[in-house]
Amino acid sequence: MPYPAILHCDLNNFYASCECALNPALRDVPLAVCGDPEKRHGIVLAKNALAKQCGVKTAEPIWQAKQKCPDLITVPPQFDLYFEYSRRVQAIYLEYTDLVESFGLDECWLDVTASKLLFGDAVHIANEIRNRVKREVGLTISVGVAHTKTLAKLGSDMKKPDATTVITPENMAETVWRLPASEMLFVGEQTAKRLHKLNIFTLGDLARADEALLSKHFGVMGARLKNAASGNESDRVKSYYEKREIKSVGHGVTLSQDIKTLGEAHLTVQGLSEMIASRLRRYGYLAGGVQVHLRDHSLQCVSKQKQIPPTDTATEIATAAEELFSQLFHAENPIRTLTVNTFALTATDIPRQQSMFDTPQSEKHRRLGSVVDAIRKKHGNESIERGVLLKNSFISDHSSDEDDLLPFKRS
Ligand SMILES: [Mg+2]
Repeated sequence: MPYPAILHCDLNNFYASCECALNPALRDVPLAVCGDPEKRHGIVLAKNALAKQCGVKTAEPIWQAKQKCPDLITVPPQFDLYFEYSRRVQAIYLEYTDLVESFGLDECWLDVTASKLLFGDAVHIANEIRNRVKREVGLTISVGVAHTKTLAKLGSDMKKPDATTVITPENMAETVWRLPASEMLFVGEQTAKRLHKLNIFTLGDLARADEALLSKHFGVMGARLKNAASGNESDRVKSYYEKREIKSVGHGVTLSQDIKTLGEAHLTVQGLSEMIASRLRRYGYLAGGVQVHLRDHSLQCVSKQKQIPPTDTATEIATAAEELFSQLFHAENPIRTLTVNTFALTATDIPRQQSMFDTPQSEKHRRLGSVVDAIRKKHGNESIERGVLLKNSFISDHSSDEDDLLPFKRS
């Protein structure tokens, strides 16, 4: 059987490129898309080429970036705009195959194995897509072409911007195997440290490593890591139309001031629960469980969860979350990061059984929640907030997605 032909398409400097595409004058100035400078999240989310030339790095604090680049123009993120650009680019991908699997707003894998007869070989398709995205949308992409998803992703990282990189079984050794193991998807900081202890530093080391040794240290992931590094991975590209199963919905914040009392936590938990409930309603899910995850000053983490009667209302989620928080919280350990997750999701269109919990009160909260959603949809997120939120100066927007619960985070 011939090798699969997989592309990994990565939009370059995505947020900053969208801003420049919308307002071409920004191309000629060093530009950074930044979080709120008042919060701990006042960091660079993305930068354009000129800012990069000044040494501005993603994730560095704004003040530091401005030191390097005094003329730096900063703009707040406009996620609706980025979503729209992402959708337009994906529409081009979909003309070549329905096997388009997105990985965040700016990255997609495409399996074009079956498209070759119609459109030419994988490299030809990669270059054609790259040119069309540039011409039709005004953004540039880097494309990796390979026979596995992991190798294609490594490829798209190797030449930027606006480039195609081809990884083959023949050139794998002199291309990807020289890279540090931490460049590979699924190898986070902790995994990399553990690999170093086993004298595994590069992807070549990982590909050649003893499988039994890896299994001993990493369990089932051991073989998966080795296979991914050696190009023997069978993970397929999912269809664009395959509905992605959402297992949990959560939000977390890193606070601009540590939480030292239960009262301070109350405001934050309310705010997070509002956002979660709004997303649950948008996705059409009820949550049957709530989990609270805390990280304190010394970066120690604790978490606890409980089951609740299925709900999509902020009040019920917040009540459970506050109960869990009070069980986990000790005043001597101020809290730096607070995350609320909901799980055990069921689709809202499954008729709910009436229970003693379905009081008129909870029905009222449900209706109130839907009204809030409708107002926010029409007038924006900022337009309506509960009274309790108006006092809340902590909430900085750091949304955790269901992906955060996967064993490995994307870097
Ligand atoms: Mg990108």
